[in-house]
Amino acid sequence: MTIEPTVGHPPSAPEPNGDGVKRLYVCGITPYDATHLGHAATYVGYDLLVRAWLDAGHEVAYVQNVTDVDDPLLERATATDRDWRELADEQTELFRSDMTNLRVLPPTHYVGAVESIPLAVEAVERMVATGAAYRVDTPDALEQGSPGDVYAALSVDPDFGSVSGWSRDEMLEVFAERGGDPQREGKRDALDPLLWRVARIDEPTWRGGELGEGRPGWHIECAIIAAHHLGLPIDVQGGGNDLLFPHHEMSESHLRVLSGRPGAVRLHAHGGMLSFDGAKMSKSLGNLVLVSRLVAAGEEPTTIRLALLQGHYSEDREYSGAVLDEARNRLALWRRAVSAAPEGGRAAEEAVLKAVRDAVRANLDSPRALAVVDEWALGVLGGSALPDGGAATGDRAAPVARPGQDEPGGLVADTVDALLGIDLGA
Ligand code: ZN
Repeated sequence: MTIEPTVGHPPSAPEPNGDGVKRLYVCGITPYDATHLGHAATYVGYDLLVRAWLDAGHEVAYVQNVTDVDDPLLERATATDRDWRELADEQTELFRSDMTNLRVLPPTHYVGAVESIPLAVEAVERMVATGAAYRVDTPDALEQGSPGDVYAALSVDPDFGSVSGWSRDEMLEVFAERGGDPQREGKRDALDPLLWRVARIDEPTWRGGELGEGRPGWHIECAIIAAHHLGLPIDVQGGGNDLLFPHHEMSESHLRVLSGRPGAVRLHAHGGMLSFDGAKMSKSLGNLVLVSRLVAAGEEPTTIRLALLQGHYSEDREYSGAVLDEARNRLALWRRAVSAAPEGGRAAEEAVLKAVRDAVRANLDSPRALAVVDEWALGVLGGSALPDGGAATGDRAAPVARPGQDEPGGLVADTVDALLGIDLGA
């Protein structure tokens, strides 16, 4: 019994790892701003995958990076007169506490970009040596006679473009706004991505061996962290759908070139973007809803998690106060039903387990899973407590004494806990 999400790019050449371990790599945060609901939706989505794999008896190896040095982080630190390392540490801690509050099972390894720089240096040196990368004249380099920035030569990778399936025009359209530098002079191709940025004035740098002092590009970081800590092939590479191109396209290209194997990633799965009252949630628009702020305002994290599960992970979706109200009412409904579950209802509870499990295994279909539990709860309560109205509206959904596994309601409580990460108990 395997869990195979069906959204995303189909694997080009799957080869079994042979050890039964499921390998998941999810692109992590750049820690310069607290976790907003869009991030949370992504990580809660992949948490369903982890739970589904564990439920199916797989061992799971899950790696997430932390981009703890990057241009946006450095810019934010400068703008707010902070030390970039302190800012990164503080925001990484806040992110982890948000994830704990949301009951996201922690990755096997959180890996920082900074600690991975020696791996990146070794990989980029190898790409230069084999002609898969080249140097570009860098007049503003800190050191005179610097060997220059290093770029990947995409022309050596015949499968480039297979992750997104986009045309060259489509790629060029978003490349610049997503961190690329199509205009950079001296590049062989406008789309060639940066692998190593040599030292500039007032920028942190690290020893780069033959590359000179500098720091790695973003795509090579994820590629080498994934390859080193998980091994290839990776079963699922995940992230928000804004990472499809260029980030995942470039990362997999680097993995192909470095490993010499076409099927470095079996499946790319992308999470949808969250919008708030009609506009995409983004830092530039200033409409971020922060998990930590909702919790500080008294919202129960379980309600926030449930609100995120009301939409399918892969779909762009809307967040609003009404979505949170719906989750609050749903949580109250489920808790009342678990408390009121009748003796002799075991068969119905087993049916809930099976249907929720089937829904999660069908490409992490959380809306369907929630509907299954709703139906059971309404059945228990005699249809008297619809989630979107009536007596339940505005309930704070006080946690209930959680029934034991063999007591009425216990199997449903365990099901939503294990598969959906929703804890109904006190
Ligand atoms: Zn990444």
